[in-house]
Amino acid sequence: MLNKNAALFEKIDRGEELTLADLTTLLHMQEPEELHRLFSAAYEVKKRHVGTTVYYRGIIEAGNICVKDCYYCGIRRSNSGVERFLMDPEEIVREALWCYENHYGSLVIQSGERQDGAFTDMITGVIRRIRAATEGKLGITLSLGEQSRRVYDEWFQAGAHRYLLRIETSNPALYTELHPGDHSFSTRLAALRFLQEAGYQVGTGVMMGLPGQTMEDLARDILFLRDFDIDMVGMGPYIPHKDTPLGAECTGLREDEKKELLLLAKKMIALVRIVLNDVNIAATTALQALKHDGREEGLLAGANIIMPNVTKTDYRPHYQLYENKPCIDENSTMCRGCLEGRIGRIGETIGYDEWGDSPHFFRRSGRVSTHT
Ligand code: SAH
Ligand code: SF4
Repeated sequence: MLNKNAALFEKIDRGEELTLADLTTLLHMQEPEELHRLFSAAYEVKKRHVGTTVYYRGIIEAGNICVKDCYYCGIRRSNSGVERFLMDPEEIVREALWCYENHYGSLVIQSGERQDGAFTDMITGVIRRIRAATEGKLGITLSLGEQSRRVYDEWFQAGAHRYLLRIETSNPALYTELHPGDHSFSTRLAALRFLQEAGYQVGTGVMMGLPGQTMEDLARDILFLRDFDIDMVGMGPYIPHKDTPLGAECTGLREDEKKELLLLAKKMIALVRIVLNDVNIAATTALQALKHDGREEGLLAGANIIMPNVTKTDYRPHYQLYENKPCIDENSTMCRGCLEGRIGRIGETIGYDEWGDSPHFFRRSGRVSTHT
């Protein structure tokens, strides 16, 4: 069986460019021996380009009020069953300081999308306060959706330096099926460009296992990430939420479906590592929703970033983008201890107090890193 794809593995070993057809074939692969070879090859690329230190970004889920209505998301504006919240600035800063005191190199502030001035000004103030309180030592990533170029500039000037905005799928037709008419693929692309122009390290990614998505779509997603010169990649399995148009029919993922999705997610991570080599790749929380050690498996397939949840436990049940989100009844200290053991067991170390920026960003921008 190994012979079937031997030529592809030789291409990978020689560092040759993989075509759309190659990537599609590799995504279809099921043979355990071949999969093992793929993950080992990706791990070698990871070791060579980014090493085996895992960097943390503590994620603060700052609010679930959202103006968007994405058909797949549990906190979409039309879901009237959600108790809406927005943390006040003190709470966000307090959680940021928890990250700092616990030696997490960076944090991510994520929330539903809001463009109103009250919200965007609040975020600017929070970024300034976190920078001042940590003497600029805590890396600040934002994941606050589509904003104007002016707002992206303002947040960058205030001290944020990374931004995560998933393209969700690089197939415009599929994007249209997943979103209502007032959400646009071209606006999303323009927002990603604004972020690059504003000077951020830019992260994007896709969901995997979406209804109607093919292996060729996912192969194209990988080439999209490469061609867009993306610095950071965050991809996760699509996990249905029953109170959404896309998930309404679903009664929960079966065990075999979870297994298959996790395998697909690992193949995507491995191929992104092989094709984009020096980017940061997150082993996302959604992997853990499929299997208790899904994130560690993601690290072994080529990921190098973990985003531990540092949101106050009271708020966690109200930020369910998808169902069965893990750790909603745990607190940040429990998550910290649990993760440390898990990462140690796979032989990797944690880059405490380090930013762990994407080497790709410095290669792309010609800038020089000022943080280890
Ligand atoms: N509002 C911001 C940030 C929060 S949503 C934004 O949309 O960018 C963050 C990510 O959650 C989205 O990009 C999407 O990829 C993911 N997400 C939403 N619903 C999901 C679901 N049902 N399964 C898996 N991931 C989901
Ligand atoms: Fe809002 Fe983000 Fe969910 Fe879309 S994915 S509904 S923008 S929180």
